[in-house]
Amino acid sequence: MKKQLVVQGRLSDAQLAELSDLFEVEVLPKTTALNDPANHALLANVHGIIGSGLAITPQLLDTAPKLEVIATISVGYDNIPVDELTKRGIMLCNTPDVLTETTADTGFTLIMATARRVVELAEWVKADKWQASIGPALFGSDVHGKTLGMVGFGRIGQAVARRGALGFGMKVIYSNASPKPELESELGAQRRELNELLAEADFVCVTVPLTAETERLVGAQEFAQMKPSGIFINIARGKVVDESALIHALENGVIQAAGLDVFEKEPLSASSPLLKMSNVVALPHIGSATHETRDAMAQRAVDNIRLALQGERPISLVNEEACR
Ligand code: NAP
Repeated sequence: MKKQLVVQGRLSDAQLAELSDLFEVEVLPKTTALNDPANHALLANVHGIIGSGLAITPQLLDTAPKLEVIATISVGYDNIPVDELTKRGIMLCNTPDVLTETTADTGFTLIMATARRVVELAEWVKADKWQASIGPALFGSDVHGKTLGMVGFGRIGQAVARRGALGFGMKVIYSNASPKPELESELGAQRRELNELLAEADFVCVTVPLTAETERLVGAQEFAQMKPSGIFINIARGKVVDESALIHALENGVIQAAGLDVFEKEPLSASSPLLKMSNVVALPHIGSATHETRDAMAQRAVDNIRLALQGERPISLVNEEACR
């Protein structure tokens, strides 16, 4: 008998066909809550779940005694209780590497857009306000030659830093759990304590995962340590930042601008003060959202779940301990 799979995320027809050849596949719309009682009968027999933004709770796991693997179509897995999975011997797979460069592109887009006031000025042109050459009130700030402070220096942080150092002649400083001597040689990057980095960087770009230690890592005290000309970029997770403190810092000139792909609560409410500020570029969590990258992420998740359910080692396994 074929093993059963639940899909709750975007897969191509070819990817769905690949899974359907091997498994019984049930596709659930994104609007359906996985833990809806209507899904209990389905979950009771399910061996694998694949999707993005999956709402996994211990209670849901209790209803799925045959579950062997969850394959999230994302690199971040802060929405999934990993310890609970491991305790039950359930594998968790994610999609690192294939989204690194695209997410770094998004980070650099935000650096350029905030520094050069691209969105604000493009809207100004569309509003027919361009009647004469602009003056200093609308000038931006240079990016090249400035200091880029990376908070988190893993795959994505390093890829943003490469763009800055090699493309824009930026000095790179970083704060990270462990030192990265290879990147210090490759890019001349220098490690700093977080407070030193905040005071020295022209651009502070956050790329740490959301964990118990990083939740609200950047708050009022941290913004106060940044330069008044400093620009804050977040492409990690909204909850790494105290959003009220960020709003206060932007409203009171504590920092100059912010480029944000992620927010405490998504989708961002239309009433958020962030949306009223001309010095904020807000994006709808598009870090990895290109056709090519989303397809590669989905394929990685398909490969992960196929291998796991066939008793082989998945490519990107988060909780090695679940296999023992
Ligand atoms: P990664 O390679 O694991 O890098 C994370 C880095 O953060 C690692 O270097 C790690 O240090 C460091 N770190 C972890 N906890 C820390 C702490 N408490 N203090 C200081 N440094 C800490 O992950 P990645 O692939 O770069 O992805 C990073 C995050 O970006 C993901 O978790 C996800 O939340 C987010 N993301 C967002 C989007 C988007 O759409 N905006 C897209 C992709 C990813 P070590 O090297 O010492 O372990």
